[in-house]
Amino acid sequence: MASEETPVPRDFIRDIIDEDLKTKRYDGRVHTRFPPEPNGYLHIGHAKSICLNFGIAEEYGGLCNLRFDDTNPTKESEDYVNSIIDSVRWLGFDWGDRLYFASDYFDRMFDWAVDLVRKGKAYVDDLTAEQIGEYRGTLTLPGRNSPFRDRSVEENLDLFERMRKGEFPDGSKTLRAKIDMAHPNMNMRDPVMYRILHTSHHRQGDRWCVYPMYDWAHGLEDSIEAITHSICTLEFENHRPLYDWFIDQLGIYHPQQIEFARLNLTYTVMSKRMLLELVKAGLVNGWDDPRLPTIAGMRRRGYSPASMRGFCKRIGVAKFNSTVSFDLLEHYVREDLNMTSPRLMAVFRPLKVVLENYPEGKTEEVEAVNNPEAPSAGTRKVPFSRVLYIEQDDFMESPPKKFFRLAPGREVRLRYAYLIKCTGVVRDGGGRIVELRCTYDPATRGGDAPDGRKVKATLHWVSAAHALEAEARMYDKLFTVENPMGEAGRDFREFLNPASLEVVAGCRTEPSAGRLGVMDRIQFERMGYFCVDRDSKLGRPVFNRTATLKDTWAKIQARDGADS
Ligand code: ATP
Ligand code: MG
Repeated sequence: MASEETPVPRDFIRDIIDEDLKTKRYDGRVHTRFPPEPNGYLHIGHAKSICLNFGIAEEYGGLCNLRFDDTNPTKESEDYVNSIIDSVRWLGFDWGDRLYFASDYFDRMFDWAVDLVRKGKAYVDDLTAEQIGEYRGTLTLPGRNSPFRDRSVEENLDLFERMRKGEFPDGSKTLRAKIDMAHPNMNMRDPVMYRILHTSHHRQGDRWCVYPMYDWAHGLEDSIEAITHSICTLEFENHRPLYDWFIDQLGIYHPQQIEFARLNLTYTVMSKRMLLELVKAGLVNGWDDPRLPTIAGMRRRGYSPASMRGFCKRIGVAKFNSTVSFDLLEHYVREDLNMTSPRLMAVFRPLKVVLENYPEGKTEEVEAVNNPEAPSAGTRKVPFSRVLYIEQDDFMESPPKKFFRLAPGREVRLRYAYLIKCTGVVRDGGGRIVELRCTYDPATRGGDAPDGRKVKATLHWVSAAHALEAEARMYDKLFTVENPMGEAGRDFREFLNPASLEVVAGCRTEPSAGRLGVMDRIQFERMGYFCVDRDSKLGRPVFNRTATLKDTWAKIQARDGADS
């Protein structure tokens, strides 16, 4: 795909790696990792991190591990582990035999914590979480030492061991690093390393009732795996001194933490906590709802891995936070689908058309181009007969000036077939038009008149007797505002778009749609890009609308004269 073939833009992370390679800092090794916590499904923000970490490993001939940071058993599960593995693989990345779990390092982490206690660098504290907060001070006020800070090494060793054995209830004690309660960086004010949680772990069962905190655990995980560049998002910049402190105190192998700006997208929310709320409250249909920014959702919506990788490459990495337009993502999706998806015809809101001069019982096949962008995709045969369906929107009885489609007395082209002319309408008892009477010109087969006369519109259509009934799920933006989190005092759920899903039942498609498989991507001419949903039944497909045909991003770019 064109956008994927564009050269990798230079950025500050690749500059750091180039420099490290020059100075032989890690003996010329490049080893990254993608470290998700299995507490939800991955979203497109994670895709940015995946593309960055695996992409760097590929570019430099290095390695990238997939590592689960499974240190908080209350929120994690094996289902999440499996969904994450699935998403990373689907995006097109491979971690070889390097699938790791932080929980497999719990023994080593515990031993290292004991080392710090022995060195007088960690202590058991009896303050509650609330009290720890009170003692911590503020950005302008120094904190105060805990009354338990000066326990002897022996007492700390004994208490820590008894914490591990399960002698104390949840929340009654913690292990804290002994750094500096007046440190200008709040993260350095004796951070908690372990808390007591009598909770089963999805991999470790009941082996543990003390669990390590992120800041303590993460650098150790990186060190154990001999990661060279530990890439994380910007909010961890203030945690880097702590990352370095733990590793330095232990005197173990020291990776380099590097922070970059997380991806934010307009018209959606990205945090797993909020996504979980939407899923749990049934405001969307599960984690892979095509309206969600989850990788599973975008996959089900019909986005291809290549378009998501192309998008991630295009947005690049930087040191400052910004929000990327959803239109840009859709632009990549469309660019990819335009090149790759076969065209079919489907009528979403059918209006019956009877060709009065076409023989009853006759069927012929017209030849249709599968993809004008890819001549090698060839052509197919589409059945044509006396009774057809066209789109209700494509007909107006009393058209305004700018309406060029079908109207009484007017001639239009049926794509790949004939010119037809409307001669009359049929109404039901309530006066509603339920059928059009038309004539076709047999001399215009293929769609062009031998006498060179022109028509102003080309319509898609299907033959009624041959059509397949289908359902189309028309997705739109999940929220009505660019930043659902941006309104002070308002809950993000207030901005859910009530029209984000419209189900159109009773669509009619040309018969070849019946040969599509689940997840096949197509374009219904004039209607948008669609893919086949897994809810499809034999002979009754369900289509998800992946994107409309209108490329808002390209239009903005053209207007602003900028390059895309
Ligand atoms: P969230 O805040 O959405 O719940 P998280 O940071 O808690 O995400 P993790 O599972 O801890 O999720 O993240 C795994 C990796 O993905 C981390 O290295 C994290 O920095 C990165 N990551 C998470 N969200 C984004 C994002 N929006 N953009 C880029 N990278 C991200
Ligand atoms: Mg996290």
